[in-house]
Amino acid sequence: MHEMSIALAVIEQVERAAVEHGARGVESVRLLVGELAGVVPQALDFCYELACADTVLAGSTLTVESVEGRARCADCGHEWAVGMPPDLGCPGCSGARVELLGGRELQILQVRWAADPVLARADQEG
Ligand SMILES: [Zn+2]
Repeated sequence: MHEMSIALAVIEQVERAAVEHGARGVESVRLLVGELAGVVPQALDFCYELACADTVLAGSTLTVESVEGRARCADCGHEWAVGMPPDLGCPGCSGARVELLGGRELQILQVRWAADPVLARADQEG
C-alpha cells in the first residue's frame, strides 16, 4: 500500500529527529503533499495512526497540506493547474513540451514536539 510506505517513511524521519532533539513525544506533524503524488489523504491518515502505535509519535496528529499540480508550456510559457487526473496539454497553444512545476511534493514541513511535563517541573524547582 502506497500510503502505508509513506506513513512509515514519515514516522522514521520524525523518530530520528526526536532522538536528535531528545524529544519524548510528538504533538503534531505537518506534511506537504503534492496533488500528483497519488496520495489519498484519508488512507494516509489511517495508515499513519496505525503505524504510530508504540512509537514516539503515538497519539500525534497528522496535518496534510496539499499543493496543486502546475505545469508550464516550453513553447509559449503559459502556466496552468493540471488538475487530477493531470491534463498535460497546453491550453494556450496545445503544445506538448510541458514542464511540471509542482505537485509531486512529499515532505515534512513541521514537527511539534510534545511538552515534557516532568522537565518543566524540574525547571521551576531550580
Ligand atoms: Zn503553450
